[in-house]
Amino acid sequence: MRKTGKVILGVAASPGILIGDSFFMRRDEFQIEEEIIDSREVEAEILRFRASISETKKELEALKEKVSERLAPELARIFDPQVMVLDDQVVNREVERRIRETKRCAEFVYKQELSKAIRALNASRDTYIRERILDINAISNRVIEKLLGIKRRSLLGVKKPAILLAHSVTPGEVVHIANENILGMALELGGGTSHVALLAKALGIPAVVGLKEDLSQFPDGTSLILDGFRGELHIEPSKKSLGRYRRETASLQKQAESYREYCAREGYTPDGRRVEVQANIELTSEIQNALERGAEGIGLFRTEYLYLIYSRFPNEAEQFRDYKLLAERMGGRPVIIRTFDFGGDKFLGSFGRSYEMNPFLGWRAIRISLDRPDFFKIQIRAILKASYYGNIKIMLPLISTKEEVLKAKQIIEEVKSSLKKEGVPFKGEVELGIMIETPSAALMAEALAPEVDFFSIGTNDLVQYTLAVDRGNELVSNLYQNYHPAVLKLIKQTIEAGHRHDLWVGLCGEMAGDPLATTLLIGLGIEELSLNPTTIPLVKRIVCTTEYERAKELASEALRCSGAPEVKDILLQDFRQRFSGVEGLQFFHLE
Ligand code: PEP
Ligand code: MG
Repeated sequence: MRKTGKVILGVAASPGILIGDSFFMRRDEFQIEEEIIDSREVEAEILRFRASISETKKELEALKEKVSERLAPELARIFDPQVMVLDDQVVNREVERRIRETKRCAEFVYKQELSKAIRALNASRDTYIRERILDINAISNRVIEKLLGIKRRSLLGVKKPAILLAHSVTPGEVVHIANENILGMALELGGGTSHVALLAKALGIPAVVGLKEDLSQFPDGTSLILDGFRGELHIEPSKKSLGRYRRETASLQKQAESYREYCAREGYTPDGRRVEVQANIELTSEIQNALERGAEGIGLFRTEYLYLIYSRFPNEAEQFRDYKLLAERMGGRPVIIRTFDFGGDKFLGSFGRSYEMNPFLGWRAIRISLDRPDFFKIQIRAILKASYYGNIKIMLPLISTKEEVLKAKQIIEEVKSSLKKEGVPFKGEVELGIMIETPSAALMAEALAPEVDFFSIGTNDLVQYTLAVDRGNELVSNLYQNYHPAVLKLIKQTIEAGHRHDLWVGLCGEMAGDPLATTLLIGLGIEELSLNPTTIPLVKRIVCTTEYERAKELASEALRCSGAPEVKDILLQDFRQRFSGVEGLQFFHLE
């Protein structure tokens, strides 16, 4: 019998499915000798060090230009942390001092200095901070290559199309990957929000990262399946898995063709109920893809990712540029800009935050913005200024009390008056909405509604706070249930409270991208669904073929259930009856 393949689980970083052979990226392991130099050569050694720094800088600037032209200007900033390491005068002066004092060669001293910085960062619990180690390593290698006179190879010179396996790659290497015979990549290091993941997504290269296994053990040419949807790497897959994945890729293709018709349609049920289908994005470079897939607007722009791109808090001009670009490229379609949602699992090191026992219950999102109005005002100024160029709305994350909404509104008013005084143009009537993602906000929606223009339900957090289940902890993932009747009741209550006050109510958690939930949500009365662009055509197809009246009946039935499995059974039954044979459903385990 044929040996069934092994499946290594990682983090899905960029969607797509690939079947192909492996190519492991081996790096030139250069030996750095502790070479002693003659006192008369010290000054020449320092000049050699300075030259290597300036040459590396030129190289990086060229790379930035390439990324800016080919992808998006904002992505070029991913290289800024590397430039910062190169420009770090404290490090560079210390290197020069130690070359003079210890009479050791530049490469040896430089490597030692950067290793010190890496050891300090390694102690951090914050994945964002640890990602900086990759930047320092990348720079250290570039400078040392210059000093040793090693010519950087074009990434690999891969002869035929392959799936890249590597311990890690640098953002610069990802850009080169796009030009090589590399179809996708599987990496041992990295998280779903790393720079490498962002670049892969922007370039459309399927990727799985964080595979905690030594990938060098697999010889080149090993047969692989890379599943960038589920975060899986299949080694020597069985005939059965290969067959299943071949069918999936073929059906993805067909799906794209058969849904094309729906991309251009507006989200209306056949009996005339409007359900807008919009996109969740993190980068402006995703706009094109979202529009091609039929996004009727941006229902959630997660601004905290700007921090990842800039590697620091972006200033007003930088934020304004990105928000304006978003408004203009969406050409009058609605764009909901959510104010920073730092904390929880995102960018723990930002704002000088220190370790918290329960970060999801701690200093997060609107709580940080209200405690640091100086930063909040900068963001609101940038959003309001950009509102002049399109149809921008503001959304506040993680509201749990009415006082937070009132305080935020007061700050927004203050910013509006100063902009007016300065004569800066902005739209006076920018809609303000809040995310309903805590049980308290859902239960108090009636009291919150008069203060805002819309609600958007964030089920990713609402589920974790309602069921007391950490959204990122695989040990309790079986308890993380979108269909739990307690969650459905909170959704229903929120929608009804919103409607009593003439607000529109949307939903932008992952549940909006779950085709099995679409009919249920329509039936609960949702008016906007915002989801990852990939699933938009399928969800639109369901919206356009689901009678509102039938959806309402299904929702009432679901609300009478006592548990999530029961709700799922009802939804599956209805779904299979209406959509069996529809392309692409296997990705959602619906067939
Ligand atoms: C949510 O919580 O559902 C949501 C959309 O916000 P995020 O996933 O960014 O926390
Ligand atoms: Mg949330």
